[in-house]
Amino acid sequence: MGTALTDHFGRTATDLRLSLTDRCDLRCTYCMPAEGLPWLPRPELLTDDEIVRLVAIAVTRLGVREVRLTGGEPLIRPGIANIVARLAALNPRPSLSVTTNATALERLAGPLAVAGLDRVNVSLDTLDPQTFKTLTRRDKHARVVAGIEAADRAGLRPVKINSVLMRGVNDHEAPALLRWCLERGYELRFIEQMPLDAQHGWDRAQMVTAQEILERLGAEFHLEPEGEALRGAAPAETWLVNGGPGAPGGGRVGVIGSVTRPFCAACDRTRLTADGQVRTCLFAREESDLRGLLRSGADDETIAQTWRTAMLGKKAAAGIGEPGFVQPDRPMSAIGG
Ligand code: SAM
Repeated sequence: MGTALTDHFGRTATDLRLSLTDRCDLRCTYCMPAEGLPWLPRPELLTDDEIVRLVAIAVTRLGVREVRLTGGEPLIRPGIANIVARLAALNPRPSLSVTTNATALERLAGPLAVAGLDRVNVSLDTLDPQTFKTLTRRDKHARVVAGIEAADRAGLRPVKINSVLMRGVNDHEAPALLRWCLERGYELRFIEQMPLDAQHGWDRAQMVTAQEILERLGAEFHLEPEGEALRGAAPAETWLVNGGPGAPGGGRVGVIGSVTRPFCAACDRTRLTADGQVRTCLFAREESDLRGLLRSGADDETIAQTWRTAMLGKKAAAGIGEPGFVQPDRPMSAIGG
């Protein structure tokens, strides 16, 4: 293997977030406007062969060990199970997971598990179908719940649930969401809302903070911090709930305090957009074009070297709270969350 994706601050990226599409079938208010976005033209998207080649370069030359498929909504990419099967056949084989809204998971959980998918992270912000409709502008709550159940049945465990809380919309649901997940053996993670919406409507003062989330949960559950040693490069800080997994009514909960408790110093991620651009961070303002290299006939080592050089430019921190912070041009859905 060649040299890894190490940056100037000594961090090494081993976790690849790979966007399969910028399109989505939901319109979550904190992510996308009701009318959607100008989608990437199809010829600009990486083909299946290009995706497999880039991931092969990442695992054989750059030390990537985990691949998380995301988007947009990755399950709306045609042939996703075939992409997973081809990635699972790579040597070394990366661990494979998907971040999804689960609207198509009832149908796809089985085929994805057979293809070699290891786990799923499902985004679900509410237990109330009406609130779901308000938040996502689509009436698909039952399908999402059915999708989560199908993932569990298919063995895509631990099923992780991601929730973003919006003040006055679903923030009161934090304890109910946790209880629902504990009862089913799912691992819940709350994510602080980040300035990555296409509409640029994010308002720090309105954001529900990690501290508030913990206070709400602490009023109903016994929470014990798991500590930094266990966290590693994971963005979530985790707490044992009511004695932890194995205890009656117990489990684990995570909070991803991207804004108020940034975890940049431990970041081990590199990102590839659906049109083949390397990004070093969700909040990066620069990209490096691998698709152009692929399509101009570059060899694997040239592509690997461009990826390494891109990662050298990774900033020490996302800098959300710093003066001069500018939101990236691409919204979350076009980067791959
Ligand atoms: N469509 C897939 C899904 O729903 O999981 C994958 C892409 S989505 C952009 C990934 C995650 O980003 C979801 O959990 C979503 O809730 C979250 N997200 C989107 N916009 C966000 C924002 N502005 N702040 C925090 N999280 C956000």
